[in-house]
Amino acid sequence: MSSSSHLLVMKFGGTSMGSAERIQVAARLATEQHAQRPVAIVVSAMSKVTDLLLDTMRKAEAGDETALDAGLKTLEQRHADCCRQLLSAAAQETALAGVHVLVEEFGRIVRGILMLGERPLQSVDKAVAIGERLSALLIAAYLESQGVRSAAVNAADVVATDAVFGNATPLMDETRQRAAKVIRPLLDQRVLPVMTGFNGSTTAGQPTTLGRGGSDFSASILAAALDAQELWIWTDVDGIMTGDPRLIPDARVLDEITYNEAAELAYNGAKVLHPRTLAPLIERHIPVWSKNSFAPEKPGTRIVAKLAEEHPGGPRAVTSMREVALLSVEPEAGMVSGTKLMAEALEVLEAKGIELLCITSSSYRQSFCFLVRQAELKPALEGLEQAFALELTHGYLKPIQVDTNVSLMAVVGEGMRGTPGLAGRVFTAISRQRINIIAISQGSSELTIVVVVHRDGLDQAVRAVHAECGLGRPAPPRVG
Ligand code: ASP
Ligand code: MG
Repeated sequence: MSSSSHLLVMKFGGTSMGSAERIQVAARLATEQHAQRPVAIVVSAMSKVTDLLLDTMRKAEAGDETALDAGLKTLEQRHADCCRQLLSAAAQETALAGVHVLVEEFGRIVRGILMLGERPLQSVDKAVAIGERLSALLIAAYLESQGVRSAAVNAADVVATDAVFGNATPLMDETRQRAAKVIRPLLDQRVLPVMTGFNGSTTAGQPTTLGRGGSDFSASILAAALDAQELWIWTDVDGIMTGDPRLIPDARVLDEITYNEAAELAYNGAKVLHPRTLAPLIERHIPVWSKNSFAPEKPGTRIVAKLAEEHPGGPRAVTSMREVALLSVEPEAGMVSGTKLMAEALEVLEAKGIELLCITSSSYRQSFCFLVRQAELKPALEGLEQAFALELTHGYLKPIQVDTNVSLMAVVGEGMRGTPGLAGRVFTAISRQRINIIAISQGSSELTIVVVVHRDGLDQAVRAVHAECGLGRPAPPRVG
C-alpha cells in the first residue's frame, strides 16, 4: 500500500501558528493523527508576519532605511522568542541559526530594494515566502523535539506554477511529479513533512506566490497532488457558518456543505476559505474539513461533493462583501452596440486581473452595470475610460457612473434550484426593512442570488434574509 493512500493533509493558518503556545497545539493536533496514518502539514506565516514583510519592502522602496532595520529586528525577534519558548536550550541553537539565516536572506533582498528604489515582483514573491519558511522551520523543529521525525519543505520545490507573480496558478501535472519526488519519500520513511503555504515556483524555478491568504490553496494543491484521503483546514472559527456571527447572533455552524456552496461563499466574501481552494479537490472528491484549532473537539464543517440525504433543500447560508463599487456603462440611445461595449469592458478587466463580482444588463437600453471590489475600482475605471476614450469624447457613451456606497449580499444553496418563490421571499424580506435593492443577479445554476444594496442597509438586509430563510439556530424548546 502506498504511504499516501491514507494521507491526511492539515493546514494551519496564521492564528493557528501565531505563538509558541499555538504552535504547540498545532503540533499536538498533527501528532495525534500521525499516530494513526501518514500526515503532511502546510503552514501559513505567523499571524501579521506577511503584512510585516510586505510593509518592510514598501518602506525600503521608499528609501526608509530606519523602517527597514526595524522590520528586520521585529522579524528576527518574534521568531527567535518563539524558538526559545518552544525548545530546550540544546535544541534551540540549530533552530535559532536557521531563523537567522532566513532573516538574513530577507535582509539581502530588502536591501536590494532599498538600493534600487524599486520592488520587482519576483523579488517580492521570493522575500514574502520567508514568513512561511520561518514558521515551517519552527514547527518542524518543535515536532522533532517531541520525538516526531519531521522535515520543513519549501513549497518552491513542490508547487509548480505559471509566472503570474503575486497571484500564480498551479500547474498540477508538474506539481504531482515534484511532490512525488520531494514529499513522498519523506512519507515513506514516516517523516512528517511541513510544507510552506502560499508559495511555489515556475517551471524555470523562479519563486512565485498564490495570492494573499493562499495557504489554503497550497494545502489543497498538495492534497490533490498526493491523492490524499482528506484535507483538514485549521482556522480560528468553528467551521463554515450560515452567516457572519458578528452580524447575526443566531448564525449556526453548518455540519456539511458542498464544494460548490463553499466556493460561492468564499467568492462572495465569507472569510472561511481562500476562494480558489476547492478547485483542485473536486475532481478527486477529496473531502475537506474546516476546523477550529482553538476548539478542536468541535466537529467543524465537512465540505463534500454531495450532501447526505437528510438535509432539507433551500438556501444554506448568507454572506456579504462591504467594500465594493458599482460601475454603470450606458450608451446614448442606439449609438453603439451594448454587446460590443460589454465585450470590450470585460477584456479590459480581464487584462488587469480584476474580478467581476456580479454583472447585470438590460437589452433595451444596452446598458450594463457590474460590481468590483473597492480596492480594484481605480484600475477598473482607468482601464474603461481609456478603452472608451473615443466613445466618451464623442458622446456615444454617457460618463461612466460609479457608486461606492453599495455592498453585496449573497444567498447560497444548491437546494435553491427549482424552488419557486425563493427569490421573491428574499426580495420581500429586504424590502420589508425599507431597503432599496439596487441590482440583482442570479445565474441559471440557481446556486447563488446576489443582491446589491446601499451600504447603510447591508447589515439589516443580511439579518432579514438569514431569518426569512430560516437559517438561524432552531428556537429552544418552549417550556410548559
Ligand atoms: N501568509 C499569507 C498571507 O497572509 C498566506 C496565508 O496566510 O494564507 O496572505
Ligand atoms: Mg491566513
